[in-house]
Order: sequence, then structure tokens, then C-alpha cells
Amino acid sequence: MRTQVVIVGGGPAGLLLSQILHLQGIDTVVLERQSEEYVLGRIRAGVLEQGLVDLLRAANVGDRMDREGQIHEGFEVSWEGRRQHINLAELTGGKTVMVYGQTEITHDLYDARRAMGGTVVNKAEDVTLHELTSHKPYVTYRKDGKSHRIDCDFIAGCDGFHGVSRQSIPKSVRQEYERVYPFGWLGILSKTSPVSSELIYSQHERGFALCSMRNPKLSRYYIQCSSSDSPENWSDEAFWEELKRRIPEDAAQKLEVGPSIEKSIAPLRSFVSEPLSYGRLFLAGDAAHIVPPTGAKGLNLAASDVHYLSTALIEFYKNSDDALLSAYSETALKRIWKAMRFSWWMTTLLHKFPENKGFGDRIQQTELEYLFSSRAAQTALAENYVGLPY
Ligand SMILES: Cc1cc2nc3c(=O)[nH]c(=O)nc-3n(C[C@H](O)[C@H](O)[C@H](O)COP(=O)(O)OP(=O)(O)OC[C@H]3O[C@@H](n4cnc5c(N)ncnc54)[C@H](O)[C@@H]3O)c2cc1C
Repeated sequence: MRTQVVIVGGGPAGLLLSQILHLQGIDTVVLERQSEEYVLGRIRAGVLEQGLVDLLRAANVGDRMDREGQIHEGFEVSWEGRRQHINLAELTGGKTVMVYGQTEITHDLYDARRAMGGTVVNKAEDVTLHELTSHKPYVTYRKDGKSHRIDCDFIAGCDGFHGVSRQSIPKSVRQEYERVYPFGWLGILSKTSPVSSELIYSQHERGFALCSMRNPKLSRYYIQCSSSDSPENWSDEAFWEELKRRIPEDAAQKLEVGPSIEKSIAPLRSFVSEPLSYGRLFLAGDAAHIVPPTGAKGLNLAASDVHYLSTALIEFYKNSDDALLSAYSETALKRIWKAMRFSWWMTTLLHKFPENKGFGDRIQQTELEYLFSSRAAQTALAENYVGLPY
């Protein structure tokens, strides 16, 4: 079998890349290790920057998002009983974010791929990349006990943090940067009305909390927990009680509680692997970098990688020009590191760090005081939150 671009990983990055390239007449095959049901069952991100919203619309997968997504013009930061509204629209000259679940985006992308006759191979096992530094790379995999080979021009590694693509770049070529935070986020999804129409990020002496949502009847809440904790240690009642302690009093009083339909712990880490390209292999999304979820940059960063990579591949096929492909890693990394910095900053601002006794605590309090009192500080937060330009 032959295609132009093999895309390893059928998460949001891989599917969106495939959709954009297909619309430009570029042939792709997506190889996904899991079943479609499994991929669609994953509950993850939900806050979309304008850049991702535009990209989804341009890829003809924005209709349901435009009908069902909620535009948010701001969010709140709560600290020591005080609340600061960050008015995104006012601080950034009208920019906003869209709340629409990653699960829904993936759903829309799978539907669009099917409708256009795109090839997505689910349950592809033992995906292996070959001859990456030649002009004739190929990929092998197994499906239903049979071995397959796909010859191609390029391989896009969109297979997430635990995928095979990044590992296919020799260790001697890769430079990895990592910070693991000494806590995680315990999150629950519940069929309850969100406590607020906007997100509330709460800094509290017991630890961080976030009130978030997916739609008017589906809430997503998080509390900072120990990295060694387990969801089984938390009954729904214990979660709600702890959340109420950490969020503003009036929000706690009107919080609608109910059974969780999903409960999990996400570890927090910052990670970048450089470069993003090796021969004919190009990494995009979580395959190359991870951010802590504070600031909601993970999915958005995957989208900006897809923007740069799709533009470069289209330029190659339309105009036989590989300059953008050669520059892809450097171009994407500039934006990646800005999102890394922002996610690290927001995590540092809002979480309780076990080692932060004394000096660290005072600096954190002062940073919050500055944010609450300075329009310039609020503007910097807003500018990064809505997403820096591509
Ligand atoms: C629990 C959790 C909660 C999150 N919450 C948020 C949030 O609130 N806000 C936010 O912005 N971001 C969040 N993120 C991050 C965000 O979901 C990711 O940044 C986003 O999914 C990246 O998309 P991706 O397509 O690059 O990677 P993924 O979504 O990881 O997709 C990669 C795909 O590749 C497949 N794959 C892996 N290995 C192979 C292989 N060997 N062969 C073939 N296929 C393979 C995987 O099955 C997967 O479908 C969260 C992540 C997690 C894990």
C-alpha cells in the first residue's frame, strides 16, 4: 500500500491533520492503536483558543462546535476569599475562548473522516517506522493478526506522549526537557449544572481547585491531590466536600452535587522533546510535548503544531518547496515554549507546593496580589490564555 503521509495516532492532532490535508487533495492514512470507541471515551481538554476554533471551521468540522460550544469572555481567579474577574474580551481587544469538549472534537473529526472516505485504521498494533532519513520511509503494523506495510513520503508522529514516533528518533539526536510537579489533579465529570457560567480557578491553602464545564448540564471539577493518590481513595461525597472547602463561599453554597460519571487523576508535568523533526518524520502534539493542564494549553498546542505542519506539507505538495518543512521544528518550538512558560507560571501561581514554605509562599502571595491589582498583569494573563498568535 502507498500513501503520501502516514499519520501515526488518531487523537485530535492526527485526525485534524488528516482532515486538513485531505481537503487539499493530499492522501493520508491514519494508524491508531486503540478502537474508535476507546478514543471517543477519553475525557480530556475542553477550552479552545481562537486559533483552534478557526482551524476546526476551516477544516469543515466546526458546525456542531458553533451550535453547541459556549463562548467564554472571561474567567475568575479566587484567592483568600477575594475574586478577580479576568475579562478576556476587554483585555485582549475582543478575543475569547470556546468551551467544547475534546471528546466532541474527536467525534466530529471521526465523522468527517468517514464522510470524506478518509482511511483511519483502528486497532493497528506494533506500528514501526522505517528508513526515516531516506526519501522512501515506510511504516509497518499488524491488524487482525496480519502484517501490513505502507510506503509514503512523510510520517507525522501524532501518537501522544506514550507513542512510538518520538522513540523512533535516536536518543543521541533528542534533547528532552522535563519538570514533574509534586502533585496531580483529581477530576470528576458529573451531570450537574456548572456552578458558574465561567471557569473559576481557585488558589487555596488546602490546594488548587478548578470549576469547569463541558456544557450547561455537564460539569468538570478538579482538585489538586498528592501525586501518589488514587481515585479509589475518593468517594464522590469526599470530593464534593473538599471542593467546597477550596472554592469561594457563595459558589460552595450553590454547588450542585451528584454522582460522578468519570473520576481520574492526571499527573502534572512539563515536557519538551527537541527537535520536532528527524528526516522524514515530524512530531506534533503530545508526542513532542506535555504541559500541565493549568491554562488549558495541551490540545491548543497540538492544534498549532498541526497548523504549522499542514501548511508546510501543503507548500511542499503544491509548490515543491520544502523550506517550511525544514523550518517546522524551529517555528513550532517557538510557540511551544511560550505555552510551556505560561502553563508553568499559572501552575506555580495557583498550586500549593509542599516545598514552598516561607520564601516561596510569600512570593506566590505577592504574585497573586500583583495580579489582582494590576491591569497590566491581568492583560498578560488574558493574552496568553486566549492564545498567542500562530
Ligand atoms: C487525563 C488528561 C486530561 C487532560 N486535560 C486537559 C485539559 O483539561 N486541557 C487541555 O488543554 N489539555 C488537557 N489534556 C491534554 C490534551 O488532552 C492533549 O494535549 C491532547 O489530547 C493532545 O492531542 P494529541 O492528538 O497530540 O495526543 P493524544 O490525544 O494523546 O492522541 C494520541 C493518539 O495516538 C494513539 N497512539 C499512541 N501510541 C500509538 C501507537 N504506537 N500506534 C498508533 N497509535 C498510537 C493514542 O491511542 C491516541 O489516540 C489532558 C490530557 C490527559 C491525558
